[in-house]
Amino acid sequence: MDINVTFPSEEYFRLTDKEVNERILVAKSALGDSLFILGHHYQRDEVIRYADAVGDSLGLSKKAAQTSAKFIVFCGVHFMAETADIITAPDQVVFMPDVTAGCSLADMANIDQVEKTWQKMHYFSPEKTIPITYINSNVALKAFCGKNDGIVCTSSNAQKALEWAWSNGKRIFFFPDQFLGLNMAYRMGVPLEQILVWDQNKPFGGHSKQAIEKSRLILWNGSCCVHQEFSKEQIDLLRQGDPAIQIISHPECNFEVVQSSDFVGSTEFIIRKISDSPDGTHWGIGTEKNLVNRLKNRFPNKKIVFLQNYEPFCVSMSQTTSVHLLFILENLAKGNLINQVLVESEYRENALTALNRMLELA
Ligand code: SF4
Repeated sequence: MDINVTFPSEEYFRLTDKEVNERILVAKSALGDSLFILGHHYQRDEVIRYADAVGDSLGLSKKAAQTSAKFIVFCGVHFMAETADIITAPDQVVFMPDVTAGCSLADMANIDQVEKTWQKMHYFSPEKTIPITYINSNVALKAFCGKNDGIVCTSSNAQKALEWAWSNGKRIFFFPDQFLGLNMAYRMGVPLEQILVWDQNKPFGGHSKQAIEKSRLILWNGSCCVHQEFSKEQIDLLRQGDPAIQIISHPECNFEVVQSSDFVGSTEFIIRKISDSPDGTHWGIGTEKNLVNRLKNRFPNKKIVFLQNYEPFCVSMSQTTSVHLLFILENLAKGNLINQVLVESEYRENALTALNRMLELA
């Protein structure tokens, strides 16, 4: 990804909240319909309040594909802005308020490692394998999937993507998040002995020829550090203290947490489930703090707690502040195109193929 990195000057950080708010509204108004701001659920409140659309990765991908605004400002992390750049028209331009906001999960797999693993797994078992990349991945991996008859998925549509892939091949190679792949496949009835986690530091991922031949799912050993904060022990403690509590977790959580949860689903699923539940219900939620705190504020008549006794937050998502947003908007209003996200042309076509397959699944 080619990026120009420009940070706000000191003067911006000396502004009061009131001044930041007033100037953001002025810049938004000056940009009018040429501007569309997308905000992921894990963004800070001070940022999300200015978003024209709020959602998870799938929802925001669809919004990016639908808008005709010339300037799309993505309040999220790199891979999301890359996705928006690929699926929008050539005359639309994508920016990030803080273009250095990455995703540690996406960084856990790179194209060289994935290509080497792909070759090794085919050495023992040449049958058709379908690659699936979680949308939380860099663009080269999405292009790899497009080129090799594979697909992109999000936590909202992972089950559909797995069904699609198994109808097209014997085995799935899923990266970079092992837990999304594992939790979904197990829920779909795939036995654990047919699911392998590939250890790149061991010959053939640490598996025998027979195990690879029998496998239906090979998982990259990546994970999200935020969702690994939750544990079964904490869930057990919550249940002991409150027998009425219902546990709802994100599928990036580890296997034990997911198995101990009453409900499992994407951020959109979690929001819908809590919204639809009656007043007086008790919930323990296993996902990032900004989303959970917004639910707490929105539903004061429901008891909502974290699965941990602290508030787990995504450092990358929190990097974007209202000051960064103001900075990008004022520059755009002056015609300064800074912090643009521009995907390399070599990956664009194949990545779009894999993303379109995902969007068609919906
Ligand atoms: S919560 Fe996890 S997967 Fe999501 S952006 Fe942060 S590190 Fe990446």
